[in-house]
Amino acid sequence: MSAESIGLYGGTFDPVHLGHLTAASDVQQTLSLDYVQMVLSANPPHKKPPVLNADERFSLLSASVKAFPHLQADDCEIKRDGPSYMVDTLRYYRKIKPEASLLLILGMEAFNGLMSWHQWQHIIGLAHIVVTDRAGFNNELVPEIEAYAATYITKDKSTLKHLTHGKIYHQPVSALDVSATQLRQRIMDKKSVEQWLVGDCWTMIQQHDYYTALHR
Ligand code: ATP
Repeated sequence: MSAESIGLYGGTFDPVHLGHLTAASDVQQTLSLDYVQMVLSANPPHKKPPVLNADERFSLLSASVKAFPHLQADDCEIKRDGPSYMVDTLRYYRKIKPEASLLLILGMEAFNGLMSWHQWQHIIGLAHIVVTDRAGFNNELVPEIEAYAATYITKDKSTLKHLTHGKIYHQPVSALDVSATQLRQRIMDKKSVEQWLVGDCWTMIQQHDYYTALHR
């Protein structure tokens, strides 16, 4: 049995919402992980530039995870220059936690895009991949990802602790049909968003006029 088991949940978090937080928390509890690092993608390579800068998004993330004892806000991609590649974050964790089981947690739609990621073939040699369902999306694997996953898939969650990396596991989570894009649009349109955000996060968004025409 390996020393620690650590989840890594990446996102732009523009802003972080209860879809992210409940998915990460459900995986942490179901797989009895020691903790989950919520890794803020400072310079996301696959998306258009975020609305808030990395420090602003990180302060919302830090305020939000306080409500979840086993989730931690992770700024390692802010401290690194250049595009935020998950493979570099996994190499960093593998170096500082050589004995730990590392579990990269991805929604199904993100997993389906894996082959577009920088050095994606190296990821399974550094961490396990835990795939969650995502409400509002077609939760089926695209054929090329299904073929890739077949080599690594396991239904035995104990394997995720016995090995430090190398397995793919499907973990259904409580599905919350929300995205950061929808929330940003709702804030712009002055519609309610409180039910999808941690209270302190929503307070900060209002204080700074984030995501409104008044911001910057
Ligand atoms: P955006 O709308 O700005 O693209 P997003 O809400 O889709 O953002 P990201 O910040 O890009 O989320 O986070 C990406 C990760 O979070 C992916 O693994 C994605 O599957 C997962 N995720 C996002 N929203 C949800 C949700 N409602 N339920 C479960 N997982 C989610």
